[in-house]
Amino acid sequence: MSTLTSPTPPIPSSASSSNPSTHLCVSLTATTVDEQLSQLQAARTAGATLIELRLDLLSSEEKPRWTEILSASSLPLIVTNRAAWEGGNASEPEIQRLAPLIQAVSNNVAFIDVELKALDAFWNEMKTRNMDMGNTKLIVSKHHFDRSMSLTEVLEAFQTVKEKRGHIAKVAMMGQSAMDNITAFTALQTTDIPAVVLVMGEIGTPSRILAPKYSAFLTFASVREGEGSAPGQVDVATMVNVYRFRKITSRTKVFAVIGNPVSQSMGPVLHNAAFEAADLDAVYVRMLVTEGVDEIVRKCCKIGFWGFSVTIPWKMDVRNAADELREDVKAIGAMNTVVREADGKLKGANSDWGGALDALCRETGGSLEGRRVLVMGAGGAGKALVYGAVAKGAKEVVVANRSKSKAITLAEEIGGCVIGIGNDEIEGDFDVIMNSTSVGMVPDVDKCIVDVNMLKEGMVVFDAVYNPMETKLLREARKRGAVCVGGVEMFVGQARLQFEMWFPGVEAPEEVMREKVYEKLGLSGKK
Ligand code: NAP
Repeated sequence: MSTLTSPTPPIPSSASSSNPSTHLCVSLTATTVDEQLSQLQAARTAGATLIELRLDLLSSEEKPRWTEILSASSLPLIVTNRAAWEGGNASEPEIQRLAPLIQAVSNNVAFIDVELKALDAFWNEMKTRNMDMGNTKLIVSKHHFDRSMSLTEVLEAFQTVKEKRGHIAKVAMMGQSAMDNITAFTALQTTDIPAVVLVMGEIGTPSRILAPKYSAFLTFASVREGEGSAPGQVDVATMVNVYRFRKITSRTKVFAVIGNPVSQSMGPVLHNAAFEAADLDAVYVRMLVTEGVDEIVRKCCKIGFWGFSVTIPWKMDVRNAADELREDVKAIGAMNTVVREADGKLKGANSDWGGALDALCRETGGSLEGRRVLVMGAGGAGKALVYGAVAKGAKEVVVANRSKSKAITLAEEIGGCVIGIGNDEIEGDFDVIMNSTSVGMVPDVDKCIVDVNMLKEGMVVFDAVYNPMETKLLREARKRGAVCVGGVEMFVGQARLQFEMWFPGVEAPEEVMREKVYEKLGLSGKK
């Protein structure tokens, strides 16, 4: 037995096992052996359970030293020498390119990766040398860097791998639509051999994080943020600490924020921490959706998703996915929450108005009864705030907007005690002022949406803007003795309401959620 043996982890017997241990694999991408060793150490410390040694990425001078990595690794290894014609760096003649992989088999390495197109050549070489695979498992891979793949195509590739004696089938495709994640998950649920389906690019990030949910054999993560071997990889520490990768199984309920763009959403940090604190078997991911939001929501809910947060630009279109719309969605015309009920029906709700108004009414004794309220802005947030002010019993709601016609339309739509005016026509005293415009947001931090002389002692002032946390509006209001409520409270409040819709009867750990948002905004301890 060679001394260059890396440990062989178990292979799940079938893709449908209920609690598989999906390997969290990091590819070593450096060009020198020493750097790859330092990447290996960092990956192990961060929580990787499998390492891919990319021989093709080592410089030609360093390549002969590659077995040093075998000796040094306490984690199981995949040895890969990716061909240039499959997106890698190895351009030597095929027999030469396959030689180190065959050497890896003699060294009892845990896995080698051979391209599907090179599989026949590989087996011929093995036969010529009268070798079998011994303890080494054969990953057979197929990549498309320029397009996605249909379900049929993925399943055909898996079938070929099986027929040609591969142990683990792996396909990687460039994501074109969020639907590609659904293709990946469906293929994993269908196949009867251990398999991996990765959707590359930001669009495919769910396919990487949710690999254990669908019993994938492995998933790839980067050593550090932005240092992945393929686009869309999440770093190992975030996989383990934010997404709780080790706890995801086929029973885990999946939630996602859908939008475009969605990369800056604070949802994963906040909701995953809340799931952890409430001891719930659930995970929350970002899903970049560029088209077909209603079909994506419906299909996801058929394969283990239990709810969505919805952000720009899908709050209106997503209404088509719902079987039932709550009254607030009908009135506001926007939906930011999808709830999958026990009977499988999808309910649409809006938690934006409740998040803001709950926070505000903590300062007004629970309601706005008898209060005169001014809402600045008539966009999406403005509509939610006006609806909320009416729902909380305001005596009169004045909505003022730069484009007066939008304020008037909003007032007509919500009706009741709401009147719409232009920004220059604001008159009289108000008990509550709410800003729903982006005025005061970074970088325009010196702007204030109202004349500061309107701000008075005893008034409650709310600003939907949360970056900066204390806007000029809130600063000036506080100076004059008003009670201030910031946009972070609206964000935390709407997330709390979503959580409680998704898990009826479970109280959301609001303090944990708030802490996480403050942390993400770099505002720790500034409450
Ligand atoms: P939106 O639909 O695009 O509406 C923007 C509103 O701001 C419109 O009424 C617009 O007036 C007005 N506006 C923009 N620039 C202005 C300016 N320079 N002067 C006067 N009015 C101006 O956007 P939205 O979704 O309602 O979001 C608005 C703000 O609320 C954003 O800052 C957003 O980050 C914040 N927000 C916060 C939360 C939270 O959880 N804290 C949630 C949602 C939104 P016109 O109609 O004249 O263009």
